[in-house]
Amino acid sequence: MGFIPISINEYIKTHLKNNPSESEKELRKRLNSALSDYNKEIKCSCGNDIWVIGSAAAGNSCFTCITGERIPTDDYEIESAIKKRENRKGHRHIDEMDPSEIHGFFMTMDMK
Ligand SMILES: [Zn+2]
Repeated sequence: MGFIPISINEYIKTHLKNNPSESEKELRKRLNSALSDYNKEIKCSCGNDIWVIGSAAAGNSCFTCITGERIPTDDYEIESAIKKRENRKGHRHIDEMDPSEIHGFFMTMDMK
């Protein structure tokens, strides 16, 4: 589970194959701007990291706010954004935990 990493170029190729009427230039511009917003730590209105690929189409929002789903299953994300997420230590998102884990997490916090 989680995002499937993809490069901007690869994603553009895939996306244009499925949406031949879209302009490559526009798409690239929107992806680059969403990625640079992501790198500037711009967050979704709910406080989560934005989903770069979805934000290119729907405006800066996180995966959950755009799709209504809690966890990505076979959705793409730009690989440099994924790397950045993984490098950030100690900031694991509660959204990515399963409910039993969240329960355990809060139990541990209570005991401290
Ligand atoms: Zn959100």
